[in-house]
Amino acid sequence: MLRLYNTLSNTEEDFHPIEEGAVKFYACGPTVYNYAHIGNFRTFAFKDLLCKYLRYGGYRVTQVMNITDVDDKTIQNARAQGMTLKDYTAKYTEAFLADCKTLRIDPPDIMPRATEHIDEMVALIKTLDAKGFTYRKDGSVYFDIAKFQGYGKLSKADFSGAQTGVRVDADQYDKANSRDFVLWKAPKEGEDFWETEIGPGRPGWHIECSAMSMKYLGETFDIHVGGIDLVFPHHENEIAQSECATGKPFVRYWVHPEFLVVGGDKMSKSLGNISTLRDLLAEGHTPEAVRYLLLSVHYRKQLNFTTDGLRAAQASLQRLEDFVLRAKEKKRSSDGSEAAPSGDFAAEVSAARAKFREAMDADINASAALAAVFDFVHYAYQKDGRGEFGAGEAGAALAFVEEVDSVFCILRAQPELLDEEIAAQIEARQAARKRRDFAEADRIRQWLLDQGIQLEDTREGVRWKRM
Ligand code: AMP
Ligand code: ZN
Repeated sequence: MLRLYNTLSNTEEDFHPIEEGAVKFYACGPTVYNYAHIGNFRTFAFKDLLCKYLRYGGYRVTQVMNITDVDDKTIQNARAQGMTLKDYTAKYTEAFLADCKTLRIDPPDIMPRATEHIDEMVALIKTLDAKGFTYRKDGSVYFDIAKFQGYGKLSKADFSGAQTGVRVDADQYDKANSRDFVLWKAPKEGEDFWETEIGPGRPGWHIECSAMSMKYLGETFDIHVGGIDLVFPHHENEIAQSECATGKPFVRYWVHPEFLVVGGDKMSKSLGNISTLRDLLAEGHTPEAVRYLLLSVHYRKQLNFTTDGLRAAQASLQRLEDFVLRAKEKKRSSDGSEAAPSGDFAAEVSAARAKFREAMDADINASAALAAVFDFVHYAYQKDGRGEFGAGEAGAALAFVEEVDSVFCILRAQPELLDEEIAAQIEARQAARKRRDFAEADRIRQWLLDQGIQLEDTREGVRWKRM
């Protein structure tokens, strides 16, 4: 049974979706005003891990992640670059999706863009208007936080003393500045705006997520993920808008990953301490090592990013990849018949699998889950050292590691050799034999075997087949 820490209750809770076997899942997507940094990707890698583990557990997951392509920051930056908002945000949306692909973060099932959902936002604001939760000032529409009893229930802040009628127009602000927040912003000189039934203007950031999540997942859905900095005001405001409009609970489980930090400071553009995925790849790190690092620390603990940490992640991953190669080699050494592992080895695999699941069920304790895998690898190498790691053991070990990797996606896919590459190797082997360099010929044969290519010497010449 999966348990998740719910920010709403401040406790770890058993996970029960509304509909048995199905999970309705929303993640706040990127604000596409620049390249995302690896702090952002910690949050996105986590929501990917959570989705993959839910799917591994047999759930049908509908994942929605929005693209914030209109807000204060996107408008400001597009103007500074002399670009239209559309062209500007298209560029960074594309970059974001490309980076996600590199990091093997699955695309969401539905990816709504804010600018394509203005009608839904207007409709939601009209509902809030009709129910008396809003007021207007200078062409903008504000949410009156004093009208919602539950305001503060997510961030656990006490707003009872908040001054009524004091407003905030910015999308981002802190608790000390809690105010009536803006739902719809009156047009400003040089800013993009839409002509709508509630007047000309553009949406506030918070209403975007309420409108898009409820459109695709319904008025109440299961899981909502976003970085810890989104608890206040973004998610607090999403709850206020959504629950006041529908009269129903908005989200059942609020899940908030902690920050990736650099020497104690949150990685953020404004502090100038960011690394992008592109920076790290240019320095020679692999996407898998970055992904491994982002996932290897429990999501509710801060992850302190250092180059040494990234190197250590690469080394751990290498150990796992070496093991997979060794197991593949052993598996191939069988005569093709399905060998079974010994009883004690099979029991060890089952125990490792149980530990892996137990750790993941305990609020996605990824570090403990990975530790279970590495302990198992250690055991398998010991067996190998004693000559007790045959094709059957190798097969069972591989199946387990591949199962884990279907959730973590950290092992590099081994590219298949092309036919021409194989032909070139065979030619090199023939040449080695001709000059009676049998050691080299054997080395090439073994190398090809390691890549899954088996050679057969026949009277007509060398034949090969993929295994
Ligand atoms: P943004 O594009 O600024 O809206 O941020 C996208 C996501 O990244 C949000 O869920 C943020 O909470 C998250 N985020 C921003 N900075 C960090 C960080 N240093 N560590 C982890 N997550 C972060
Ligand atoms: Zn959001």
